[in-house]
Amino acid sequence: MRVTCPICRQDATWENNQYRPFCSARCRTADLGAWATESYRITGQDSPGEGQEADSGAGNAADQADL
Ligand SMILES: [Zn+2]
Repeated sequence: MRVTCPICRQDATWENNQYRPFCSARCRTADLGAWATESYRITGQDSPGEGQEADSGAGNAADQADL
């Protein structure tokens, strides 16, 4: 079975191909890299880090004290 690599559009074999549906490790890494970069950017916006969470908790406590 022949498939088309989604990265470089070259023909790639499906059977015995550990990189499928990509043609090579380079194309698989390129795809994972793009996905990881996108995921990292979204995650960064939602939860900057544990340090930020700690600061947010302190802020909430202060707000409750004011009320
Ligand atoms: Zn490829």
